[in-house]
Amino acid sequence: MSGEQPVSGAEEWLSKDRKYVWHHISPHNDNPLIFVSGDGCWITDAEGKRYFDGMSGLWCVNVGHGRETIARAAYEQMKTIAYSPMMQSHVPAIELAEKINEWLGSDYRIFYSNSGSDANEVAFKIARQHFHQNGEPSRHKFIARHRAYHGSSFGALSATGQAQRKLKYEPLGAGFEHVPPPYCYRCPFGQTYGNCKLECAEAIEDAINWEGADSVAGVIMEPVITGGGMIVPPPEYLPKVREICDKYGVLLIIDEVICGFGRSGERFGHHNYGVVPDIVTMAKGLTSGYSPLSATAVRAGLYDSFKAKEANSHFRHVNTFGGNQVSCAVALANLAILEEERLVERSAYLGQELGQRLQVLRTHPHVGDIRLFGSACGIELVEDHASKVPAAADKMLSVIGECRRRGLLVGKNGDTVPGFNNIITLCPPLITSDDELEFIAGTVIAAIEALTASQPVS
Ligand code: PMP
Repeated sequence: MSGEQPVSGAEEWLSKDRKYVWHHISPHNDNPLIFVSGDGCWITDAEGKRYFDGMSGLWCVNVGHGRETIARAAYEQMKTIAYSPMMQSHVPAIELAEKINEWLGSDYRIFYSNSGSDANEVAFKIARQHFHQNGEPSRHKFIARHRAYHGSSFGALSATGQAQRKLKYEPLGAGFEHVPPPYCYRCPFGQTYGNCKLECAEAIEDAINWEGADSVAGVIMEPVITGGGMIVPPPEYLPKVREICDKYGVLLIIDEVICGFGRSGERFGHHNYGVVPDIVTMAKGLTSGYSPLSATAVRAGLYDSFKAKEANSHFRHVNTFGGNQVSCAVALANLAILEEERLVERSAYLGQELGQRLQVLRTHPHVGDIRLFGSACGIELVEDHASKVPAAADKMLSVIGECRRRGLLVGKNGDTVPGFNNIITLCPPLITSDDELEFIAGTVIAAIEALTASQPVS
């Protein structure tokens, strides 16, 4: 955290930002940090202050900042050809599709887009068209979970299970139903894990039956709900969901936009649970955020009906930048780093270590639960253990502010229902060193302990 030299023009940038830039999902009067450089796990703002990038940007910079080989791959690719559309093909797209298959460990066809939202839109359209072309045209609905986030475009937002994100944009897409999440800390069914029947998984079967199985095309879920508050299901949940999907002929769409590419401690989050999805969507860690790219991986057998040329049954979807050459080259360089530096294994290690170091917080009066999935972590803050009332906004702000003051950027996640945005999240770059991990844990512990240092707990 050395070198706090203001970068000249910082004030001017801020005033121009205030004048011209419209920020994502933030109240307009907040003053943003303006980041000017990054190196490894650290980023520097226009004031010259360095921060540990504890959320890997927006859950994406898995290999850290300032990677020469990625920059070089982009440069070399840009020199060869500016652009060509994905109605045809190009070498980086082909190589990357092969590499993604290797990472998935099964046989998938890869459709490229620009963002996680796009990848989910594509999944919904492919699922619907698949049933159209296979004698079940009435299958059009999707089942998702409350608390889930699947993106900001209309279909992806329809699948999202957070009311406040949707309220002012309705009506959204029709045919998206939601069931309660597998949230053991606040079990929506009033059960305790170990003594329950996995009612959370059964709710999916119930929804399929209530809606009518012949109207349901797919179930979409992240392996672990990340942005919705790091909701980690019991180990039997995803296999049971797979079984239910098989029983009713419903496609299982797994959103790996955050969990994929090592974050889960495996190559993909669904590998942690031993299930094979029909469709896998991915973005963020695919390029570690160096360039926009996403992909929808579709089980090879599902692609068959799209191949029948004479039936004019191809997928009628195109986007100009999906599969962009430079992004594909960047993704290949990024995946090479993940492999060469064994960062998937590192992710599992980081999660275990972080979990151990945060153990001391488990008895803290304002810590209700700590949940980890690979190296992603959620610390659920509450007013007190017994009531489990979600921590008020001022406590969240205090912890985030204290972390920031000490040079650590953390996330705030949960539900956008007022009062339920009470989970502090951590998603450090997979290159985080042991010393840096100690810094993260020490900082978060100090920031949470500061809550009780200043005020008595009732
Ligand atoms: N799915 C999940 C699980 C996500 O977390 C996100 C973004 N945070 C998306 C989809 C949408 O991705 P994008 O912002 O790239 O559209």
